[in-house]
Amino acid sequence: LSERLSGVFDRLTKQGALSEDDVKTALREVRVALLEADVSLPVARDFVKRVQDQATGQAVTKSVTPGQQVVKIVHDAMVATLQGEGDPGALKIDNPPAPILMVGLQGSGKTTTTGKLAKRLKDKEGKKVLMASLDVYRPAAMDQLAVLGTQIGVDTLPIVPGQKPVDIAKRAKQQALLGGYDVYMLDTAGRLHIDETLMGEVEEVRNVVEPRETLLVVDGLTGQVAVEVAEEFDAKVGISGVVLTRMDGDGRGGAAFSMRAVTGKPIRFVGLGEKMDAIETFEPERIAGRILGMGDIVALVEKAQETIEAEQAERMMKRMMKGQFNMNDLKMQLEQMQQMGGMQGMMQMMPGMGKMAKQVEEAGFDDKVILRQVALIQSMTKKERANPALLQASRKKRIAAGAGQEVSDLNKLLKMHRQMADVMKKMGKMGKGKMLKQAMA
Ligand code: GDP
Ligand code: MG
Repeated sequence: LSERLSGVFDRLTKQGALSEDDVKTALREVRVALLEADVSLPVARDFVKRVQDQATGQAVTKSVTPGQQVVKIVHDAMVATLQGEGDPGALKIDNPPAPILMVGLQGSGKTTTTGKLAKRLKDKEGKKVLMASLDVYRPAAMDQLAVLGTQIGVDTLPIVPGQKPVDIAKRAKQQALLGGYDVYMLDTAGRLHIDETLMGEVEEVRNVVEPRETLLVVDGLTGQVAVEVAEEFDAKVGISGVVLTRMDGDGRGGAAFSMRAVTGKPIRFVGLGEKMDAIETFEPERIAGRILGMGDIVALVEKAQETIEAEQAERMMKRMMKGQFNMNDLKMQLEQMQQMGGMQGMMQMMPGMGKMAKQVEEAGFDDKVILRQVALIQSMTKKERANPALLQASRKKRIAAGAGQEVSDLNKLLKMHRQMADVMKKMGKMGKGKMLKQAMA
């Protein structure tokens, strides 16, 4: 696939903005890649359409081809689709004992995942965990969980033959309360296909324990089926997230993508083998890379974009050295600083600026201040930005008011600008420009 794609992309070598044709040609292949990775047809179609609108007309980064640019755009859009809100690995387990309900089809990896997550909670978060099997149809399933429990050092609810799943769930809740457990995990039975009995049973259990998390375990190798299973379980019992198992196999992760696109439910973990520590929190970049299979190109475009940013910074530096440091430069600088861990972090990295960093610190300079300063600069006119010395008292009042601040705030900003410009000019004269430039790059 990669070969076919690069073939297409080699042909798209003209520079400039992405034309509709460039984008269409590249996306035709992307669509094939998605389908080959088992992404469902409607999802692939929607996605391609969305990216097409988004990509057309976008500027092509210098030194990459339009095709490569499209790949990067596709990759980023894919990551955005896959990404849920918040930290996927953070399970809601406050208010002990917190129930976690594990659901899914038989053989999807529920029991294994229950053990993996229990071990993770115990080892990483120091939680006291209780596991209970509600699989009354296969006596071996209960033993399987008990064996896992012994192996990973996590307690399991004693087995009482003849109990219904909902009764076992009640017993687990009771035991978790009495035993001072932080979490109790309920490993439910699964069928080969979704059926009413299964769903009814899961619903009943859900109503009794009111789980903090209901995790659907699905086999990552089952493309389209996984999506249907997710929709069904979500409609009937409501799921809070998905665990994709068997992602150590050669499946391409299309299921993850379709499932996320269709149900909007976050993917929380991926299972990467049979061993009890073969589980990781979900990383959208990885799956996107797997589906698209074009990690090299993505990295290449990122590198090219970084280079351009560095070039911009260098150009700005040169002007600064000549004492042409104006408010636009300051604004750009402030915005960059914010991205790079605030003013202090940045100043500390620049030789000769250590002293200023101290002043900045003393002045209680934080990221909020940076935003306020940017707002002040934004309310200046173009001319004023280019030459702040022009500012008269009446204009100062207006600008401060426009940014919702005091004139004294503006004066502080102007003073800072003057100081910075002075320092830079001096450094330029002293020929330390190179050093500073390196520090900036
Ligand atoms: P359940 O019926 O849903 O409880 O499924 P099990 O937990 O019993 O798992 C069924 C089989 O899949 C077992 O042989 C597990 O070892 C295996 N399995 C589960 N998760 C993974 C995984 O992430 N990768 C691989 N390779 N095998 C897994
Ligand atoms: Mg099981």
